[in-house]
Amino acid sequence: MGDEVENGVRVVDVGDAEAGGIPRNVSEMSFEQKKQYNLSISGLTYKVVTKAKKKGEEATTKVLLNNIDAEARAGEILAVVGPSGAGKSTFLDAIAGRINPQSLEGQILANQKPLGSDFKRISGYVMQDDQLFPRLTVRETLMFSARLRLPGTMSHKEKQDRVEEMIQVLGLKSCAETRIGDDEVRGISGGEKRRTSIGVDLIHDPPVLFLDEPTSGLDSTSALNVVQILHNIASTRLRTIVLTIHQPSFRVLELIHSFLVLARGNVIYHGSYASMPGYFEEFGRHVPDDVNVLEYTLDAIEELQNSEEGLQPLLTFAEAKNKSVGGRTLAQLKSNMTLAGEPIDFASGFPAETATLIDRNARNILRTPELLIWRLVLQVIVALTLGSLFFNVGDTPKGVQQRASTFAFTLAFYLFTATEALPIFLKERQIFIRETSRGAYRTSSYVIANFLVSLPFYMLQVLLFQIIAYWMVGLAPTAGGFFYSILILFLTLTLANAYVNFWSAIVPNFIAGNTIVTATTSFFFLFSGFFVPKAKIPGYWIWLHYLSNFKYPLDGLLVNEYTARPADTCFAPLTNGTCVATNNPTHPATRDDVLSKYSAKLGSMWWPDFTVLLILIMGYRVFFYFALRMQSKQTRK
Ligand code: ADP
Repeated sequence: MGDEVENGVRVVDVGDAEAGGIPRNVSEMSFEQKKQYNLSISGLTYKVVTKAKKKGEEATTKVLLNNIDAEARAGEILAVVGPSGAGKSTFLDAIAGRINPQSLEGQILANQKPLGSDFKRISGYVMQDDQLFPRLTVRETLMFSARLRLPGTMSHKEKQDRVEEMIQVLGLKSCAETRIGDDEVRGISGGEKRRTSIGVDLIHDPPVLFLDEPTSGLDSTSALNVVQILHNIASTRLRTIVLTIHQPSFRVLELIHSFLVLARGNVIYHGSYASMPGYFEEFGRHVPDDVNVLEYTLDAIEELQNSEEGLQPLLTFAEAKNKSVGGRTLAQLKSNMTLAGEPIDFASGFPAETATLIDRNARNILRTPELLIWRLVLQVIVALTLGSLFFNVGDTPKGVQQRASTFAFTLAFYLFTATEALPIFLKERQIFIRETSRGAYRTSSYVIANFLVSLPFYMLQVLLFQIIAYWMVGLAPTAGGFFYSILILFLTLTLANAYVNFWSAIVPNFIAGNTIVTATTSFFFLFSGFFVPKAKIPGYWIWLHYLSNFKYPLDGLLVNEYTARPADTCFAPLTNGTCVATNNPTHPATRDDVLSKYSAKLGSMWWPDFTVLLILIMGYRVFFYFALRMQSKQTRK
């Protein structure tokens, strides 16, 4: 294994650590030379006020980052290290623009200038946990990222070439056609997953890359492999890489150009690995030969933290040392970052983005055939059961009741079972937030793609259900009646999903979402007009009737059914065969009697029933859009 000196740092040849083979020299890659960025951070301070837990207690201010000076240069890896709780992730979040700049003090400059709104696009952020679509292959995952993040002016072929290069750089060749996988389906290894995640954020070749614990959870070979790749990218393409790392091994240490050691939000050391022992010798600690100096340092910090004198002597030493080195800006300026809330340019246009997201979404749906098939099988089973229970209902008061029950049950089936999609939506939300917070695409493209892609599937479900149930129950035998019922049920299923989707963008977790959706849907059902007709609902509850997701489809289906039947149909003929309006809800005779039993009126099929249903769907989609916008802008306060 040959070691060589590159940019003054010893590079360890890791060889073919994992199958695929990582090119040692990526300088011949065709990525265009971009601007290089040097980040300088001075006096960075971040405080949070924790609320008083008990009455009488005062609110306390916790300093998470205390007056930090650091530098991250192009062509280098800066590793932020420290014991757990030292503030590593907080520091990374702060410089990556993931903390509201109003809450930060100090300065973060890129090439001596304050960060602009385009910083999110020129920087990539790789989080600790991999959030990838398990059903897509590695190549597809990278290709979707390329389609979303590379400029629309680039041809498809150029994007494909970029993906191939990325696969080569990241050593993913042997698993390019393998699906990512999850707990249910076997997929690629942990190391390959991590490298794919890095690829997703590296595809547009950002000049600055932040990575939160890129080696955590990986075995030592995979960890070394990942850092080796990052080292190559930094040194050959002059990219600026900042990462947090926990307990790096000897060989990993050698690949890192500069360290920032933190303890309780303070800088303990900032510089190269080689100068670390001398620094601690000066502090009065002898560093034995042949030890991992970083490990030794972290142990020493822990030891001091737990000792009587505490960290203070080391902090005082570190501060004096930094001062004597000079360059420390003590001025506590309000940060001049302008990141949050500013518009960012997107790589491709709205239609191209929407098409890409539809494609990605459709593949995800089609690759879950179990879910699709079970949903369709369920339609058949429920339709057959319903049809056998209410088989060929007659024109009698009992038949009237059974017809209404058929409608109410079908709607309940659609509106309640939509909660099933909640976990899927919640998982997708995490990926959405990640992607949009780095400006990968517009929220509007996502909302529209997400809406359009499921419509054919909803239609298929409703058709299957109605083809069986409509004729078995013996509903109005006209084409108009049949198609209107399909239209209304299709919109109901769309509404049900729009409603669940909207909540999935707000709720913190599945349990909260499930409770809210089920509880509100139950209320909507109760006030739909089926159990208590509108006329009998107390005035103070009537708003719930009008908001109910059940009201308009139920009304529409009832009016459709009785409009499609001959006007003189009698549901309770007198003994002499005549039909006289009874005005008795328990014994309706004429069509009007039946409808008034449910507070419904002829002529309401399109307005309000159909139209309000459409408005509700649109309304929940708009709410969904705003909820997502808020989520993707969220930064730490
Ligand atoms: P590290 O990544 O080094 O383990 P973090 O940056 O995650 O550390 O956290 C640093 C310290 O700040 C921890 O003690 C953590 O509990 C605390 N902390 C983080 N965020 C907040 C917050 N919003 N309010 C109060 N304390 C916080």
